[in-house]
Amino acid sequence: MLATVLHAPRDIRFEERDEPRIIKATDAIIKTSVTCICGSDLWPYRGIQAFAQPTPMGHEYCGIVEEVGSAVKSIKPGQFVIGSFATSDNTCPNCQYGYQSSCVQREFMSTAQAPRVRVPLADGTLVATPGLPPQDLLPSLLTLSDVMGTGWFAADAANVKPGKTVAVVGDGAVGLLAVLAAKQMGAGRIIAMSRHTSRQKLAREFGATDVVTERGDEGAALIKELTLGLGADCVLECVGTQESMMQAIRSTRPGGYIGYVGVPHGASLNLEQFFFTHVHLHGGPAPVRRYLPRLIELVWNREINPGKVFDLTLPLERVAEGYRAMDERRAIKTLLLPDGIKQESRR
Ligand SMILES: [Zn+2]
Repeated sequence: MLATVLHAPRDIRFEERDEPRIIKATDAIIKTSVTCICGSDLWPYRGIQAFAQPTPMGHEYCGIVEEVGSAVKSIKPGQFVIGSFATSDNTCPNCQYGYQSSCVQREFMSTAQAPRVRVPLADGTLVATPGLPPQDLLPSLLTLSDVMGTGWFAADAANVKPGKTVAVVGDGAVGLLAVLAAKQMGAGRIIAMSRHTSRQKLAREFGATDVVTERGDEGAALIKELTLGLGADCVLECVGTQESMMQAIRSTRPGGYIGYVGVPHGASLNLEQFFFTHVHLHGGPAPVRRYLPRLIELVWNREINPGKVFDLTLPLERVAEGYRAMDERRAIKTLLLPDGIKQESRR
Protein backbone atom coordinates (compact mmCIF):
# COMPACT_ATOMS: atom_id res chain seq x y z
CA MET A 1 0.00 0.00 0.00
CA LEU A 2 1.01 3.65 -0.33
CA ALA A 3 1.36 5.53 2.97
CA THR A 4 2.92 8.58 4.62
CA VAL A 5 6.58 8.56 5.66
CA LEU A 6 8.73 11.39 7.04
CA HIS A 7 12.29 10.98 5.73
CA ALA A 8 13.85 14.18 7.05
CA PRO A 9 12.55 17.55 8.23
CA ARG A 10 10.07 18.85 5.62
CA ASP A 11 10.53 15.71 3.51
CA ILE A 12 7.13 13.95 3.58
CA ARG A 13 6.70 11.16 1.05
CA PHE A 14 3.70 9.09 0.05
CA GLU A 15 5.37 5.80 -0.75
CA GLU A 16 5.13 2.03 -0.75
CA ARG A 17 4.99 0.38 2.68
CA ASP A 18 4.07 -3.12 3.79
CA GLU A 19 0.38 -3.79 4.34
CA PRO A 20 -0.31 -3.95 8.08
CA ARG A 21 -1.07 -7.43 9.42
CA ILE A 22 -2.07 -8.97 12.73
CA ILE A 23 1.12 -9.35 14.79
CA LYS A 24 -0.37 -9.98 18.24
CA ALA A 25 -3.61 -11.80 19.01
CA THR A 26 -4.97 -8.56 20.54
CA ASP A 27 -4.51 -6.51 17.29
CA ALA A 28 -7.11 -5.31 14.82
CA ILE A 29 -6.65 -4.10 11.24
CA ILE A 30 -8.77 -1.14 10.21
CA LYS A 31 -9.54 0.26 6.78
CA THR A 32 -9.09 3.98 7.41
CA SER A 33 -12.18 6.01 6.43
CA VAL A 34 -10.56 9.37 7.12
CA THR A 35 -7.31 10.45 8.76
CA CYS A 36 -5.59 13.79 9.29
CA ILE A 37 -2.49 15.76 10.20
CA CYS A 38 -1.97 16.79 13.84
CA GLY A 39 -0.33 19.97 15.09
CA SER A 40 2.09 17.71 16.95
CA ASP A 41 3.15 16.12 13.62
CA LEU A 42 4.66 19.51 12.83
CA TRP A 43 7.28 19.17 15.60
CA PRO A 44 9.26 16.42 13.81
CA TYR A 45 8.28 17.89 10.40
CA ARG A 46 9.98 21.14 11.40
CA GLY A 47 12.98 19.30 12.80
CA ILE A 48 12.27 20.54 16.35
CA GLN A 49 11.68 17.00 17.64
CA ALA A 50 14.12 14.18 16.81
CA PHE A 51 12.79 11.08 15.09
CA ALA A 52 14.09 7.83 13.63
CA GLN A 53 14.52 8.47 9.90
CA PRO A 54 12.50 7.44 8.00
CA THR A 55 9.40 7.25 10.19
CA PRO A 56 5.75 6.47 9.27
CA MET A 57 3.33 9.22 10.33
CA GLY A 58 -0.19 9.62 11.68
CA HIS A 59 -2.00 8.88 14.94
CA GLU A 60 -5.58 10.02 14.28
CA TYR A 61 -7.87 7.46 12.66
CA CYS A 62 -11.30 5.96 12.39
CA GLY A 63 -12.68 3.38 10.02
CA ILE A 64 -14.06 -0.08 9.43
CA VAL A 65 -12.60 -3.13 11.16
CA GLU A 66 -11.34 -5.61 8.56
CA GLU A 67 -9.70 -8.26 10.68
CA VAL A 68 -9.13 -9.01 14.37
CA GLY A 69 -6.64 -11.23 16.21
CA SER A 70 -7.75 -14.41 17.95
CA ALA A 71 -7.85 -12.82 21.43
CA VAL A 72 -10.05 -9.85 20.42
CA LYS A 73 -13.49 -10.30 22.00
CA SER A 74 -15.63 -7.16 21.72
CA ILE A 75 -14.41 -5.53 18.48
CA LYS A 76 -15.77 -7.24 15.35
CA PRO A 77 -15.05 -7.00 11.62
CA GLY A 78 -17.48 -4.64 9.90
CA GLN A 79 -17.81 -2.27 12.87
CA PHE A 80 -16.97 1.43 12.49
CA VAL A 81 -14.49 2.27 15.23
CA ILE A 82 -12.53 5.18 16.66
CA GLY A 83 -9.42 4.79 18.78
CA SER A 84 -7.08 7.00 20.74
CA PHE A 85 -3.62 8.04 19.56
CA ALA A 86 -2.39 6.06 22.59
CA THR A 87 -3.36 2.40 22.83
CA SER A 88 -4.65 0.97 26.11
CA ASP A 89 -5.84 -2.33 27.55
CA ASN A 90 -8.52 -0.41 29.49
CA THR A 91 -8.11 -2.89 32.37
CA CYS A 92 -4.87 -2.04 34.21
CA PRO A 93 -5.03 0.20 37.31
CA ASN A 94 -3.99 3.32 35.38
CA CYS A 95 -6.79 2.69 32.88
CA GLN A 96 -9.25 2.05 35.71
CA TYR A 97 -8.32 5.43 37.21
CA GLY A 98 -9.16 7.00 33.83
CA TYR A 99 -5.60 7.55 32.65
CA GLN A 100 -5.63 5.21 29.65
CA SER A 101 -2.88 7.27 28.00
CA SER A 102 -0.65 6.01 30.86
CA CYS A 103 -1.73 2.39 30.37
CA VAL A 104 0.98 -0.06 31.44
CA GLN A 105 0.72 -1.55 27.91
CA ARG A 106 0.54 1.79 26.10
CA GLU A 107 1.92 2.27 22.62
CA PHE A 108 1.71 5.51 20.67
CA MET A 109 0.13 5.12 17.24
CA SER A 110 2.28 6.37 14.37
CA THR A 111 1.15 4.70 11.15
CA ALA A 112 -2.34 6.14 10.67
CA GLN A 113 -1.83 8.40 7.62
CA ALA A 114 -2.39 5.29 5.55
CA PRO A 115 -5.28 3.40 3.93
CA ARG A 116 -4.98 0.60 6.49
CA VAL A 117 -3.71 0.61 10.04
CA ARG A 118 -2.88 -1.95 12.72
CA VAL A 119 -4.29 -1.08 16.14
CA PRO A 120 -2.76 -2.93 19.11
CA LEU A 121 -4.96 -3.79 22.14
CA ALA A 122 -8.07 -3.47 19.98
CA ASP A 123 -10.61 -4.27 22.71
CA GLY A 124 -9.25 -1.65 25.10
CA THR A 125 -8.34 1.01 22.53
CA LEU A 126 -11.24 1.07 20.08
CA VAL A 127 -14.84 2.15 20.60
CA ALA A 128 -17.50 1.26 18.02
CA THR A 129 -20.18 3.73 16.93
CA PRO A 130 -23.86 2.67 17.21
CA GLY A 131 -23.89 1.88 13.46
CA LEU A 132 -22.14 2.89 10.24
CA PRO A 133 -21.94 6.69 10.33
CA PRO A 134 -23.28 8.95 7.60
CA GLN A 135 -20.50 10.49 5.50
CA ASP A 136 -20.98 13.99 6.91
CA LEU A 137 -20.19 12.84 10.48
CA LEU A 138 -16.79 11.40 9.55
CA PRO A 139 -14.74 14.59 10.17
CA SER A 140 -16.27 15.11 13.63
CA LEU A 141 -15.85 11.44 14.57
CA LEU A 142 -12.20 11.60 13.49
CA THR A 143 -11.49 14.52 15.85
CA LEU A 144 -12.41 12.26 18.78
CA SER A 145 -9.27 10.23 18.09
CA ASP A 146 -7.13 13.09 19.40
CA VAL A 147 -7.90 16.82 19.10
CA MET A 148 -11.44 16.85 20.49
CA GLY A 149 -10.48 14.45 23.30
CA THR A 150 -7.38 16.51 24.01
CA GLY A 151 -9.35 19.77 24.14
CA TRP A 152 -11.83 18.01 26.43
CA PHE A 153 -9.04 16.86 28.74
CA ALA A 154 -7.63 20.42 28.84
CA ALA A 155 -11.00 21.64 30.13
CA ASP A 156 -11.46 18.69 32.48
CA ALA A 157 -7.92 19.00 33.90
CA ALA A 158 -8.51 22.74 34.41
CA ASN A 159 -11.61 21.91 36.46
CA VAL A 160 -14.06 23.69 34.17
CA LYS A 161 -17.50 23.69 35.79
CA PRO A 162 -20.78 25.55 35.22
CA GLY A 163 -20.33 29.29 35.59
CA LYS A 164 -16.52 29.30 35.65
CA THR A 165 -14.40 31.83 33.81
CA VAL A 166 -12.12 30.11 31.33
CA ALA A 167 -9.19 31.39 29.25
CA VAL A 168 -7.82 29.34 26.37
CA VAL A 169 -4.20 29.85 25.28
CA GLY A 170 -3.66 28.69 21.69
CA ASP A 171 -5.91 28.90 18.64
CA GLY A 172 -4.85 25.71 16.88
CA ALA A 173 -7.34 22.87 16.47
CA VAL A 174 -6.89 21.75 20.09
CA GLY A 175 -7.33 25.28 21.47
CA LEU A 176 -10.47 25.80 19.41
CA LEU A 177 -11.92 22.48 20.54
CA ALA A 178 -10.96 23.28 24.14
CA VAL A 179 -13.31 26.27 23.75
CA LEU A 180 -16.04 23.87 22.57
CA ALA A 181 -15.35 21.56 25.52
CA ALA A 182 -15.51 24.42 28.04
CA LYS A 183 -18.83 25.51 26.53
CA GLN A 184 -20.21 21.94 26.85
CA MET A 185 -19.09 21.85 30.49
CA GLY A 186 -21.10 24.99 31.19
CA ALA A 187 -18.40 27.65 31.51
CA GLY A 188 -19.92 31.08 32.12
CA ARG A 189 -17.31 33.03 30.23
CA ILE A 190 -14.77 31.76 27.72
CA ILE A 191 -11.90 34.01 26.66
CA ALA A 192 -10.13 32.78 23.53
CA MET A 193 -6.61 34.10 22.91
CA SER A 194 -6.11 34.39 19.16
CA ARG A 195 -4.62 36.80 16.65
CA HIS A 196 -6.20 35.28 13.56
CA THR A 197 -9.58 36.53 12.36
CA SER A 198 -10.74 33.21 10.89
CA ARG A 199 -9.78 31.34 14.07
CA GLN A 200 -11.44 33.97 16.28
CA LYS A 201 -14.62 33.45 14.26
CA LEU A 202 -14.54 29.70 14.79
CA ALA A 203 -13.75 30.19 18.50
CA ARG A 204 -16.88 32.34 18.82
CA GLU A 205 -18.91 29.72 16.95
CA PHE A 206 -17.65 27.12 19.44
CA GLY A 207 -18.68 29.28 22.41
CA ALA A 208 -16.02 31.93 23.11
CA THR A 209 -17.55 35.04 24.68
CA ASP A 210 -14.42 37.22 24.49
CA VAL A 211 -11.31 37.31 22.32
CA VAL A 212 -7.92 38.60 23.45
CA THR A 213 -5.46 39.21 20.62
CA GLU A 214 -2.41 40.13 22.74
CA ARG A 215 0.14 37.51 23.71
CA GLY A 216 2.58 36.98 26.58
CA ASP A 217 2.51 39.39 29.52
CA GLU A 218 0.22 41.80 27.65
CA GLY A 219 -2.25 38.99 27.00
CA ALA A 220 -2.14 37.90 30.65
CA ALA A 221 -2.67 41.52 31.78
CA LEU A 222 -5.78 41.74 29.60
CA ILE A 223 -7.16 38.50 31.07
CA LYS A 224 -6.71 40.02 34.53
CA GLU A 225 -8.47 43.18 33.41
CA LEU A 226 -11.42 41.08 32.22
CA THR A 227 -11.57 39.16 35.52
CA LEU A 228 -11.65 41.92 38.18
CA GLY A 229 -7.86 41.90 38.39
CA LEU A 230 -7.76 38.27 39.56
CA GLY A 231 -7.14 36.01 36.58
CA ALA A 232 -9.30 33.23 35.18
CA ASP A 233 -10.61 30.30 37.26
CA CYS A 234 -9.49 27.85 34.59
CA VAL A 235 -6.79 28.27 31.96
CA LEU A 236 -6.41 25.79 29.12
CA GLU A 237 -2.86 25.74 27.73
CA CYS A 238 -2.91 24.25 24.23
CA VAL A 239 0.47 25.19 22.72
CA GLY A 240 3.45 23.87 24.71
CA THR A 241 6.00 26.67 24.42
CA GLN A 242 7.70 28.61 27.23
CA GLU A 243 5.77 31.72 26.25
CA SER A 244 2.36 30.01 26.20
CA MET A 245 2.97 28.28 29.53
CA MET A 246 4.06 31.52 31.22
CA GLN A 247 1.06 33.26 29.67
CA ALA A 248 -1.19 30.54 31.14
CA ILE A 249 0.33 30.77 34.64
CA ARG A 250 0.06 34.57 34.67
CA SER A 251 -3.56 34.40 33.48
CA THR A 252 -4.74 32.10 36.30
CA ARG A 253 -6.11 33.40 39.59
CA PRO A 254 -4.54 32.19 42.84
CA GLY A 255 -6.24 28.87 43.58
CA GLY A 256 -7.19 28.47 39.90
CA TYR A 257 -6.39 25.58 37.59
CA ILE A 258 -4.35 25.10 34.44
CA GLY A 259 -5.01 22.16 32.14
CA TYR A 260 -2.01 21.83 29.84
CA VAL A 261 -2.11 19.63 26.79
CA GLY A 262 0.34 21.26 24.38
CA VAL A 263 3.34 18.90 24.28
CA PRO A 264 6.08 21.02 25.92
CA HIS A 265 9.03 21.83 23.67
CA GLY A 266 11.88 23.78 25.22
CA ALA A 267 9.66 24.91 28.09
CA SER A 268 10.65 24.78 31.76
CA LEU A 269 9.10 25.82 35.03
CA ASN A 270 10.77 27.90 37.72
CA LEU A 271 9.37 26.14 40.80
CA GLU A 272 10.45 28.88 43.17
CA GLN A 273 8.37 31.44 41.26
CA PHE A 274 5.56 28.96 40.66
CA PHE A 275 5.33 28.21 44.40
CA PHE A 276 3.92 31.66 45.06
CA THR A 277 1.17 31.50 42.41
CA HIS A 278 -1.13 29.01 44.21
CA VAL A 279 -1.99 27.58 40.80
CA HIS A 280 -3.00 23.92 40.23
CA LEU A 281 -1.25 22.40 37.23
CA HIS A 282 -2.50 19.22 35.57
CA GLY A 283 -1.98 17.89 32.08
CA GLY A 284 -0.21 15.39 29.89
CA PRO A 285 -1.15 13.24 26.92
CA ALA A 286 -4.95 13.23 27.02
CA PRO A 287 -6.69 10.03 28.17
CA VAL A 288 -8.85 10.23 25.05
CA ARG A 289 -10.18 6.69 25.61
CA ARG A 290 -11.93 7.85 28.81
CA TYR A 291 -13.97 10.41 26.87
CA LEU A 292 -14.68 8.42 23.68
CA PRO A 293 -18.11 6.96 24.61
CA ARG A 294 -19.49 10.34 25.73
CA LEU A 295 -17.99 12.25 22.80
CA ILE A 296 -19.24 9.70 20.25
CA GLU A 297 -22.74 10.18 21.71
CA LEU A 298 -22.47 13.98 21.42
CA VAL A 299 -21.33 13.79 17.77
CA TRP A 300 -23.78 11.02 16.88
CA ASN A 301 -26.69 13.11 18.25
CA ARG A 302 -25.30 16.18 16.41
CA GLU A 303 -24.94 18.15 19.64
CA ILE A 304 -21.36 19.15 18.76
CA ASN A 305 -19.63 19.59 15.41
CA PRO A 306 -15.88 19.53 16.13
CA GLY A 307 -15.19 18.55 12.50
CA LYS A 308 -15.43 22.27 11.68
CA VAL A 309 -11.73 22.58 12.59
CA PHE A 310 -10.84 20.94 9.27
CA ASP A 311 -10.43 23.75 6.78
CA LEU A 312 -8.50 21.81 4.15
CA THR A 313 -9.43 18.44 2.65
CA LEU A 314 -7.03 16.53 0.42
CA PRO A 315 -6.75 13.04 -1.00
CA LEU A 316 -4.22 11.11 1.08
CA GLU A 317 -1.74 10.99 -1.80
CA ARG A 318 -1.36 14.80 -1.50
CA VAL A 319 -0.43 14.56 2.20
CA ALA A 320 2.81 16.54 1.71
CA GLU A 321 0.75 19.52 0.58
CA GLY A 322 -1.33 19.18 3.75
CA TYR A 323 1.78 19.39 5.93
CA ARG A 324 3.00 22.47 4.06
CA ALA A 325 -0.35 24.23 4.46
CA MET A 326 -0.36 23.62 8.23
CA ASP A 327 3.32 24.50 8.61
CA GLU A 328 2.69 27.84 6.90
CA ARG A 329 -0.49 28.30 8.97
CA ARG A 330 -2.59 28.48 5.81
CA ALA A 331 -4.70 25.66 7.27
CA ILE A 332 -5.84 24.96 10.83
CA LYS A 333 -6.07 21.22 10.22
CA THR A 334 -5.91 19.00 7.14
CA LEU A 335 -8.36 16.15 6.59
CA LEU A 336 -6.98 13.31 4.43
CA LEU A 337 -9.14 10.99 2.35
CA PRO A 338 -7.57 7.56 1.72
CA ASP A 339 -10.06 6.88 -1.06
CA GLY A 340 -8.85 10.03 -2.70
CA ILE A 341 -10.59 12.01 -5.38
CA LYS A 342 -13.60 9.75 -5.61
CA GLN A 343 -14.59 10.38 -2.00
CA GLU A 344 -13.60 14.05 -2.21
CA SER A 345 -15.86 14.74 -5.18
CA ARG A 346 -18.78 13.20 -3.33
CA ARG A 347 -18.51 15.74 -0.51
ZN1 LIG B 1 -4.18 -0.07 30.96
